[in-house]
Amino acid sequence: MSILRAVTAVTAVLVLAGCSAADGPDRKAPSAASSGPAAVPSAAAPAGGRPDRQHAGWRDSDIPTFGPAPAPQKITVPPGGSAPYLLRIPTTQKVAFLTIDDGFVKHPEAPKLIAAARVPVTLFLTTDAIADDPDYFRPMIDAGAVVEAHTITHSNLRGRPYAFQKRELCGSADKLASLYQRRPVLFRPPFGNKDATTLRAAHDCGLKAGFMWKETVHKGKVRFQEGKRVQPGDIILMHFRKAFVKDFLAALRAIKKAGLTPALLEDYV
Ligand SMILES: [Zn+2]
Repeated sequence: MSILRAVTAVTAVLVLAGCSAADGPDRKAPSAASSGPAAVPSAAAPAGGRPDRQHAGWRDSDIPTFGPAPAPQKITVPPGGSAPYLLRIPTTQKVAFLTIDDGFVKHPEAPKLIAAARVPVTLFLTTDAIADDPDYFRPMIDAGAVVEAHTITHSNLRGRPYAFQKRELCGSADKLASLYQRRPVLFRPPFGNKDATTLRAAHDCGLKAGFMWKETVHKGKVRFQEGKRVQPGDIILMHFRKAFVKDFLAALRAIKKAGLTPALLEDYV
């Protein structure tokens, strides 16, 4: 199946699962309380060499462990005046891609958890969402997370004029570049809503590809668009939300259960 056909076939279904309704309440709570008491690093002796400290709402041993990801096989992005739009990476390699969106809710455990997990993640950040505390994301970047574009205002782009869409996409990429010293090369339109203008505007400001997703995680549950298992090349969507710890661990468990390893989206595009 061609990429375009695949995208067309599932777009209608996937839009419903995006960061739409469920995002609303979270935006009012830029600093979510952690889901447990303050972190108390225990002096527990590591069994087998790996520390198992108790943190707020999670332990080190809650994090699934993975073998190294295989050497990435880059996909070919078709030439033309529009960025391609993908919901998975067409690969048979045993990898999956974890993506985390928005940035309105800044759970205090998220930076620690991402660093402790030592898995690659892509953060599609909305610049208005992170404006109150861009430094919150720096430890994640230091731990290997890569920041990509998710517009300035989290507006629905579909149907909007070219100039509006270009400002949202290019403006957010420029802002993220000035904040984090790397200009995004990938993007995700809010709610997964895009049109031909979106893909043209993205291409025109140097964004190589846009991404939807195959699985979503919310309140600790993984929802599959098809089947009951993460497939090779699948892109998993979660958000910076109050349930960050549960969502992140659930996503990693689903990847582990499928016999896959988290890989970095940017290594494949
Ligand atoms: Zn979003």
